[in-house]
Amino acid sequence: MNLIPASTLDPSSIYCVGKNYQLHAEEMLQWESDDLSVAEKAEKPEEPIIFLKPASSLSLNGRTSIPFFQGKPISNNMHYEAELVVLIGRDGENVSEKDAMSFVGGYGVGLDMTLRDVQMRAKEKGEPWLKCKGFRNSSLVSDLVPGDHILDPDMLAFELSLNNTIVQKGTPEKMLFDIPALISYLSYIYGLRERDLLFTGTPEGVGKVTNGDTLHAELFLNNCCSSTLLTVLDTVVDK
Ligand code: MG
Repeated sequence: MNLIPASTLDPSSIYCVGKNYQLHAEEMLQWESDDLSVAEKAEKPEEPIIFLKPASSLSLNGRTSIPFFQGKPISNNMHYEAELVVLIGRDGENVSEKDAMSFVGGYGVGLDMTLRDVQMRAKEKGEPWLKCKGFRNSSLVSDLVPGDHILDPDMLAFELSLNNTIVQKGTPEKMLFDIPALISYLSYIYGLRERDLLFTGTPEGVGKVTNGDTLHAELFLNNCCSSTLLTVLDTVVDK
């Protein structure tokens, strides 16, 4: 199977989904509130929570770092978020969920690096997420598996290791909004463009990285009796 090289990615939009896994939504609620009981209250939103990262956030050299402005880092708390990434294969508007899978060009595993302290301040003030999510080298994507090689995306699974310890595991089966629902939703509101990327949300287990950490993400295809490694993403955290 020929993978689609990450170096050829050229998205006009990088869409991301917030809180698309129940247990991640609950871990986020704990940080957003001093009241620990709110962790039990995470409810599925009526519509997917969508935000954008600029195309300039894509890192093509396997490195990520906190930007400096006026001589200082803009954050003290960069988190990893491992996610299944969908490459959009063709333009579309008003696509039904039934037809949505024909718009998938490929699947990869990615990192939606996030400045958690900047994000929490933005949430408190009701400000946009662009700075905490869209900074340079905050988006990383593996080489991608062509969409027509995957008959059922629910059989995909991904995991992330931080310095050789597994910290996150996810599968589309556990998404609150599944891939057809996300693609259809985006098509109605924004329109799909060939080469767009969709980061489909992170499962529980997000956490902080520091200089020199290594992140290794793997995308698998599971079937009844075996698991096939499809593609990997290796990332180093720089100063
Ligand atoms: Mg994310």
